[in-house]
Parts: sequence; structure tokens; C-alpha cells
Amino acid sequence: MTQKTNSNKKYYFMFTLYFLGFGVVVALMTSFINYKSRFTDIEDKIYDMANSETEFKREFLFNYVSDIETLLASITKNDLTLKYIQSESRSDKNNLIDLFYALSYSNRNIMQLRYIDASGKESIRIDRDKTSPELIIAPENKMQDKKQRKYFKETALLMPNQFWHSNIDLNIEHGKIEEPLKPTFRVATPLLDKGQFKGIVIINLMFENTIRNLVHSDSFDIYLVDKAGEVIYHPENTKSWSKYFDGVENIYSILPVNISKILNHNTYKEEGVCSQSLGDLFKNNEGIRIILTPKSIIMKKMQEKNIISALLVALTVLIVSIPLSWVVSIIPSKLQSKLVNAYDKISQNAEIIDKYVMISTTDKNGIIKTVSSYFTDITGYAANDIVGKKHNLLKHPDTPIEIHKDMWDTIKTGKVWEGELKDLNKEGNDLWIHEFISPELNTEGQIKGFTSIAQDITDKKNIEKLSITDNLTGLYNRHKLEDVLSCEMARFERYNSNFSIILFDIDFFKKVNDNYGHLVGDDVLIHLANILKKNARLTDIVSRWGGEEFLIVAGETQLESACLFAEKLREIIANYPFPTVGEITISCGIAQYASKETASDFIIRADNALYKAKRSGRNRVIKG
Ligand code: GH3
Ligand code: MG
Ligand code: MG
Repeated sequence: MTQKTNSNKKYYFMFTLYFLGFGVVVALMTSFINYKSRFTDIEDKIYDMANSETEFKREFLFNYVSDIETLLASITKNDLTLKYIQSESRSDKNNLIDLFYALSYSNRNIMQLRYIDASGKESIRIDRDKTSPELIIAPENKMQDKKQRKYFKETALLMPNQFWHSNIDLNIEHGKIEEPLKPTFRVATPLLDKGQFKGIVIINLMFENTIRNLVHSDSFDIYLVDKAGEVIYHPENTKSWSKYFDGVENIYSILPVNISKILNHNTYKEEGVCSQSLGDLFKNNEGIRIILTPKSIIMKKMQEKNIISALLVALTVLIVSIPLSWVVSIIPSKLQSKLVNAYDKISQNAEIIDKYVMISTTDKNGIIKTVSSYFTDITGYAANDIVGKKHNLLKHPDTPIEIHKDMWDTIKTGKVWEGELKDLNKEGNDLWIHEFISPELNTEGQIKGFTSIAQDITDKKNIEKLSITDNLTGLYNRHKLEDVLSCEMARFERYNSNFSIILFDIDFFKKVNDNYGHLVGDDVLIHLANILKKNARLTDIVSRWGGEEFLIVAGETQLESACLFAEKLREIIANYPFPTVGEITISCGIAQYASKETASDFIIRADNALYKAKRSGRNRVIKG
């Protein structure tokens, strides 16, 4: 009982560990999947954030450029402007200068606002002072000729309400880049009166603040590049304006992503990098793109969140697994315990069977495959001697061929054969067995071999033999002869097959004993029995009826034939030289069985004949 409880506990512990292990694997997998899926989530989230930031910035830029264009349109459509270009009077010009001044004043990003007349000469110019927020109205003598400038030439070709937009350039003063760097953006529009070109209005914008607005972000590092990949803005200031400075790298060597894809597509989002073209808003030929990469701190935060969430998932699954594995282990551990017990019992039984039951298996041709230990004990053959040999190795030469034929005919049809067989053990002694042979079928129902379970019945057979044998002579005894008689009587009643008996007695046997002793008398009886065995026919059953009296049942024999046979025997015996005693004679009484006669009446008839033979001189045969 304690052992059982112990093994139960052992299996319970084992299964708990097993399920717990399973739980750990599930926890690890779940948390890994969670981590991975959240990782994809991070990318999606970054793209969403980048999109909304870009949208916001596009809107800002759109409004910015629209405001400037509106400002320019308000100048070109203004009455003061039209009045001046029509009259070209000094007072009208002064009014227009006032308007230019007021407009420049209202927008701090305006660095310069100019009207350049149809010949390309500056007519009105408002400059913002470099050192103070003040505005300077350029005097007449400082006006310059700009008709060769690209902006003048290109704007002059435009229709009313069309705008020319410059690249984003650094301001150049007297052929040199102005320090500190001043990014500028210029927008111009033509001025027409009744379809006649009257010059252009152009605004130079200080673009630094605008750029700052475009690139400001808490979550992203933002780059501005042109379509050639030259960097306009880099979060590290010294890496901006790559086309102006030797040694400042372009975007190809800065971002480890497919830059050509970024430059050739309006939108791009891969490997956490997002980009969009702003060319449609700047409306120049620079093809400016905004590139957003998430700041490492943001990535780190998101990944930390991911790891914490993955750990939480793993922990939750683990915590759930512990009680669950306890509960789930109860039934399997009990079953396992039962299974092991059952297996032990089966093993014990198999051991017992192996030890005490004669079992052998063969293939379908009777080649021995396995034998039990008891089989080897009984037959004397070691397993190695006999496995691989034919089962009929054990066959006794006495066994009629029909028995083996019957056996094979039965088992080959898939039936079980049962019967007694006389075999030979390894030493060549008789081995009687009671055998059951059953066929073994494969999954297709075909015979793949046979199993024989046998019982050693040699002792039983010996006892049986003893019970019907006379000890001294080895002939059948009276008991057996009574059986034989009743069989023959039954055969007669059924088949009308005649049979006779020969009852004979040794003449003056008493004298043999008296003269030579009992042992010599016994020896005479043995010699006589041997003569009978030698001369009996197959159909004759010879027995010692008692003392020195013998009875022969002669099957299929009528009275006359029996007499002849008895006469023959009498003569052989009379002529046989018995050791010590020399001559011995017998007297015989013969009777043929008559229908409905009882066994004792039948024997009495033979006995009476024998009596007559004695009375009439002995050493003769008399019919009863
Ligand atoms: P007969 O039959 O010719 O009239 O004379 P008999 O001498 O044979 O007479 P009886 O039948 O009276 O004697 C039989 C004797 O056989 C008696 C007994 O001692 C002897 N005898 C019977 N059985 C055995 C036996 O197993 N061994 C020996 N040695 N003698 C036996
Ligand atoms: Mg006698
Ligand atoms: Mg006698």
C-alpha cells in the first residue's frame, strides 16, 4: 500500500514537472510571439506617427507658401500698385512704397520686398536690416539692374496669378555665403496692366524659422534633402547644406536605407524610415523630400514597453501553469501508476508462463521462432539448439503420419488443433504431450505463424500403460482384455465381424515351481510371453489372464482359423527349449463369439473347452 502511494506520488511529481515544463515552453513561445507582433506594431505605430507629423508639416508649408502668394497677389491687384504703374508719378510711388513697407513690416520673415520694373531695374526695394528689426527703404541710387537674373527672366514669362518659386538657397553676399548661414526662399509674380508686362514683385524670405518648423519633432529626427540627395537640413547642424560645403556628406552616406527609393517615390516607408516629397508645395524644381527617422529614445521606450509586456505575458502564463499542472497531473499520474502495476503483473504472469508452460511459436512453415524456458526444460533442447529448426524435429517415428496430416490440415485453415502427440526429447526418450496449436493472423487476416501450448503428459501415459500391462510379462492384463472383449462384442453387434478367443493354460506348471523354484517358473512365463508376442498377428490381442493362464482375442477370426492358430502356437511352444526346464506344453480352449452372448458366458465356453483339453490328456486344442 505504501509502495503504491509512493509510486503515485512519484508519478504525480513527474507529471507536474512535465506539465510545468510544457507551461514554460508555452510561456516562452507566447511571450516571443507577443514580442514579435508588438515589434511589428511598433513599426506600424511609427509609420502612423510619421504620417500624421508629415501631414501636419505639409499643411503648415502649404499655408506658408499660400500666404506668401496671397501677399504677392494682394500687391499686384492693389489699386495703389496699378495707379503707380499707370501714372509713374512720384506721389503714387511713395504711396506704393508705404504699402511695401507696411507689408514687409507685418511679416518678420520678409527679408526683402521688391518691385522690379519691366526693364529689369529695381524700382522699389524694402530691406530688413541685418542687425536690427528695422526696415530700410533703398534709395534710388542703390537700385540695381536685375534683368539678367534668372528669377526676373522666368517670372516675366508667367501669366498673372502665376508664381515663381526659388530653390532654398543660402544667402550669398558679394559672391560669398553669408555667415551665420541664412537660408532663403524667394517667391515672385509678374505685374501686368491690361495684358502688358510691367515688371515683377519678388519677396525674399528668411527661411530659417520655416525650416525649423518643418524639422521640429519630439519623436523623429527629420532631414530635408533635394532630389539629388543633397542635404538641406540635418538634425546635426554641421551636416546641413551639403551642396555648399566640401566634406559635408550627402544623404546616401548618412542613412543606411535605400536612398534611391526615397528619392524616386513620392512616399516611402521601410525599415522604420518614412519619407514624402514636398515638391508639390515648394513648387520649385528642387524636389525637396522630408525624411523622418524615429529618435532612438522613442524606439528604446517602445522596445522597453515591449519587453515588459512580453515578460508580463510569460509571467502570467507561468503563474497559471503552476496550479494548472498540479490539477492536470492528478488523473494521468493515477493512470500511469495503474498502468505500471498492470505491466508489472503482466510481466510476472509472463514470467510464470515462461517458467511453467510449454509454449513455442513458429512461422507459417513450422520453423520455430521462440520457445519458453519450460519448453527447453521439458524437451532438453536449449533455445539456441532449436530456434530456427522445424518443429517436427521432436516428432516420434512411431507417430502415425495421419496425425500430423490432420494437424496441418486443421491449423492451415485457421482452426485450432488439439490432440495428444508422442514426441522425442533431446535424449531420445518418449515425450507425450497434449498440445493446442492455434494460428496467428496478421492484420490482413492471413496466417503468419502458429503458437503451440503443450502439456507434458508422459507420466499420465506411463501410468495408463501400467494400468493395462502385466508386470511380469509385459503383455496386456486381464483388465485391458475385458475392455478389448467388450469392444469386439460391440463391433460384432454393429458390423457382424466374427472374432474368437483362445484360452490356454500351461500344463503341470505347479511341478515347474516345485522342481525349479518360483523364479524359474517366472522365467518360463516371460519366455512364453515373448513367443506369443513374436507370433501374434496384428489383429490379435494377447493377455495374461491370470497365473499361468493366457487369453488371446483373435479379431476378424472364425472358430476354425482360431483353432489353426492355437494349434500353431501349441506346437511352437511344445518345441521351444525353455531354459532349465526344457519342454513345456499348453492346453487350449477355443470359442467363437455368438450373438447376444455375455462376456462371461463366452469365456466360460472357452474355459470348458480348456477343461476338456486338460481332461483328455493335455497338450491339445479343443473347440468350445
Ligand atoms: P494343470 O494345469 O496341468 O492341471 O496342472 P498345474 O500344475 O498347472 O495345476 P494348477 O493350475 O493347479 O497350478 C498352477 C500353478 O501355477 C500354481 C502356482 O504356483 C503357479 N503359478 C501361478 N502363477 C504363477 C506365477 O506368477 N509364477 C510362478 N512361478 N508360478 C505361478
Ligand atoms: Mg492353471
Ligand atoms: Mg496349469
